[in-house]
Amino acid sequence: MYPIARLCGIGVLLGLLAAVLLKNMLMGDSVDFHRHKALLIGIDGVQYEQLKQVIDAGKAPNIAQFHLGMSYTGGIVDTSTRQPTLSGPGWATILTGTWANRHKVVSNNSGLHNKSDSIFKLISLSAPTRHTASIVSWNPINDNFVDDISAGFIELGVKCGGDDQCATDRTVQELRTGNFDFIFVHLDQPDGAGHENGFGSRYQDAITRTDHQIGQILAALSKRKQNNKGEDWLVVLTTDHGRRLPDGYDHGEQSRSEKTAFIGLDKPPNAELTQPIADPVDPGLEGLYGFASEADIVPTILVHLGINTDFERHAIDGVPVIGHIGVRQLTATLNRADRTVSLRWRVTEGSKQPLRIYRSGQLIAKLTDSSSQYVDSDLPPSIAELNYTVVLNDVPVSRLVYEAQIKR
Ligand SMILES: [Zn+2]
Repeated sequence: MYPIARLCGIGVLLGLLAAVLLKNMLMGDSVDFHRHKALLIGIDGVQYEQLKQVIDAGKAPNIAQFHLGMSYTGGIVDTSTRQPTLSGPGWATILTGTWANRHKVVSNNSGLHNKSDSIFKLISLSAPTRHTASIVSWNPINDNFVDDISAGFIELGVKCGGDDQCATDRTVQELRTGNFDFIFVHLDQPDGAGHENGFGSRYQDAITRTDHQIGQILAALSKRKQNNKGEDWLVVLTTDHGRRLPDGYDHGEQSRSEKTAFIGLDKPPNAELTQPIADPVDPGLEGLYGFASEADIVPTILVHLGINTDFERHAIDGVPVIGHIGVRQLTATLNRADRTVSLRWRVTEGSKQPLRIYRSGQLIAKLTDSSSQYVDSDLPPSIAELNYTVVLNDVPVSRLVYEAQIKR
C-alpha cells in the first residue's frame, strides 16, 4: 500500500508540475500580478533644483534612494492639454494619466469632479479583489475624486486636513495591517513652507521633514515585505508642480521652473525617464517637453500591476516609465481646411510588432514600416471630439482632438 500511495503521490505531483509548465509555456512569462502592489507618495510643491540641493547636502536620505528623473506638468502650453501649475489640476493628472482637457479639474476648486478614469477605478475594475486607498493631507484631492469614493473605486479615503503626520501614520498603519494593492499618500508641508517663506532654509527644512516621514513609510513597507515575501511593491515618488523663480513663493503659471516636476522610482526606469528626447516636437521651455510627464505615472503603475487597460474606453495620455515604451512625443493635429488629422510620433525602442492606430476605439491603420506619421483623411462629418490611440509594443498612448479648441 505504502509504495503505491507514494507512487500515486509522485504521479499527482508530476501531473501538477506538467500542468504548471504547460500553463507557463502557453502564457509566456507568467507573473503572478496579484501580488504586485504599488505605493504612490506625492509631495506638494517641490521645486526640482531645491530638492537636488537638499539631496546633495545629504538632508533627504530617503528620497535620495530613488531613481529620480525630471518630468513636466501643466500640459503643453500652446495646446489643449495646458493646465495651471496648481495642485488641483496637478494631482488630477498624476492620478488619471490625462491632462485637464480630459479630467476637467482646471483649478483648485474642490467642487470640481474628476472626469477621467482614475488609477483607482482602473485598478478596481481590473479585479474585484484589488483594494485601493487615498490618504491625503490636502483635502481637496479627495473632494475632486469624490465620485471614485462613492463608487467604491477608492475604498479607503482619508482626509488629514493639512496634518502630514496624520497622513504618514495612517499610511504606516495600512502598510502594517491593511491589505491594499494601491495606496496613494499625499504630503503637503513643502508647498506650505514655500508659500510662507519662499526658497531658503525653511523651505529646504520642510523637504527634510517630509523626507523623514517618507522614511517612516518606507520602513513600514520594508517590514511588510519581510513578512510577505511574495509581494512585489513598486514605489513611485512625485510632486504636483514646481515653483516660480526667483523666490519660490508662488506657482500656477507656465514658467519652466513651475512646470518642472520629477518622478522617482524604486525600480529601474526605462528610457522615457532616463533618456529625454533631445529635440522634442515643441522645443519650448529649454526642451522641457523632451522629458517624461506627470501623465506617465498612471500607465507606469498599471504596467507594474499587470493591468492592460481597455484603451477604447479608458484613454491615457502618458507613457509608462518602466517596461516597454510605446510611441513618444505623440501629437494629433486637426487641419480644419482639408479636414484631416495629422498624427506624429517618435519611436526610440526597437519593435517587430505592427503599430496600430485607433480613432475613437476603431482600428483605422496597421503600419508595419517604420513610419512616424499618419494622416487620417476619413473623418466623420461632425467632429466634436476624437480620441486617437497609437499602440506599439502593446503600449497604448492617446491624444484628444477637438474642434472647439482649434477655433480659439
Ligand atoms: Zn501651492
